[in-house]
Amino acid sequence: MAELSLFSGEVWVVIFLALVLKLPLFGVLAAIWIGFRKFDSDRPAAAPPAARMSLCAYCGTRIALGYDAGALHERATAIASRTGQAAFDIETRLVREAFAQPDHYPEEPRFCPGCGEEAVWTPIEPIDLGAARPRHVERG
Ligand SMILES: [Zn+2]
Repeated sequence: MAELSLFSGEVWVVIFLALVLKLPLFGVLAAIWIGFRKFDSDRPAAAPPAARMSLCAYCGTRIALGYDAGALHERATAIASRTGQAAFDIETRLVREAFAQPDHYPEEPRFCPGCGEEAVWTPIEPIDLGAARPRHVERG
């Protein structure tokens, strides 16, 4: 059996294959890491999703999509600190409760609940009816 010394060729071959050939790999990993960090810093964190409203394009049935994640999370945190229950458990119940209300959906339903047709949903903005109410109404 050949004796392995520091000066034999086999030892340097092993060192070269095991270490030196992997150096470019560290460069590639560093480039990927820097790329992901730049990608994250370029896109600011999105706001938590809020409930949106949509109208059926055929019959005008109004539905609500999604739920107000920020407000619901605050409510769940307040209840959790008061009762000592797990916040995610309360939040799950609140989300279920939000979708159990009539005409509330997690995503646009394929068929309109109003007319039963295959629906085309048009997103609308909520209207503050109090601000738009006329101050003086003529009555005859
Ligand atoms: Zn409809």
